[in-house]
Amino acid sequence: MTQAGAALNEFAIIERYFSGLGNAQPGTLLGIGDDAAVIQPLPGEQLVFSIDTLVGGVHFPEDTSPADIACKALAVNLSDLAAMAATPAWFLLSLTLPRRDPAWLERFSNGLRQTADSFAIELIGGDTCRGPLSITIQVIGTVPADTYIRRAGARPGDLILVSGELGNAALGLAWRKGEIDLPLALRARCELALNRPRPRLELLPFLRQFARAAIDISDGLQGDLGHILKAGSCGATILRELLPVNDWIRAHGAYHYALAGGDDYEICCCVAPDCSSDIEHWNRLHPDCRLTRIGEITRQGFFLDDGAKPIDLSQGGGYRHFD
Ligand code: ADP
Ligand code: MG
Repeated sequence: MTQAGAALNEFAIIERYFSGLGNAQPGTLLGIGDDAAVIQPLPGEQLVFSIDTLVGGVHFPEDTSPADIACKALAVNLSDLAAMAATPAWFLLSLTLPRRDPAWLERFSNGLRQTADSFAIELIGGDTCRGPLSITIQVIGTVPADTYIRRAGARPGDLILVSGELGNAALGLAWRKGEIDLPLALRARCELALNRPRPRLELLPFLRQFARAAIDISDGLQGDLGHILKAGSCGATILRELLPVNDWIRAHGAYHYALAGGDDYEICCCVAPDCSSDIEHWNRLHPDCRLTRIGEITRQGFFLDDGAKPIDLSQGGGYRHFD
């Protein structure tokens, strides 16, 4: 390895910005610096893997703050682990950069470090090369043997729950594109939802105890709940009035932001019909990660009940009736 001159070569970038990033895990035998990383899971644990790529100009505007890009790239992966009820442990980062910009890298690595620290995950390797801006992160989580939660598993009668508020990220994007106007306070909330999604790892204890099926909502409730229904060969009816949306969406009847808007990274899960008091108990103890019951699993069909004629969501696009 030669590091002639002041130029930031690949090795200097790794050393300066990515070594020692995140929370060291007891199972890490080899991290950054060798040809590959080596991990040793604890006896009785299983490893859970997921990977996602964010491409500049496709998944985010190129001028997005580097810290926001880093947070989002890790958060969308952590959200997949949350949906599986897996505890984050390690991640790998493949970074393609158009140029070697120390100021950009500094802010990117600070944002990444902040998110990695707050979710106790360790960076154990990756790749760095030159090209159009693109960030690929692979996460590895752990679960006690066979406690992971799948999309399949919902049964007729189950309660359908979602965490947090739906539609805020899509609303933030619509505002940024100039499609709508938003009150100042709501704009801040929506921009935060869009730029700094919060993976719902705090739900893990609840999911492990109660969830029969779960998914993270990255493409809108309609599509993602649809995946649970398909995987479980069942149907659902959800109630429009129960959807956890902000006052603007409710006042404008703009429920399509929640049903078809992307980037929420909330969790949708299904629990047995007798879990009502457990949900209330959870909500009392976790006011920042509330679960809202939005409907029920049925044998077949996928409907939105708005108090009038049920709207068929099974074909996609039904939400547009609200426009
Ligand atoms: P190789 O040429 O064998 O692929 P690299 O020079 O790409 O090795 O990487 C050297 C070490 O640095 C490896 O341990 C690799 O995992 C790590 N690494 C490279 N890029 C990154 C990155 N962006 N983030 C974290 N680790 C990285
Ligand atoms: Mg490499």
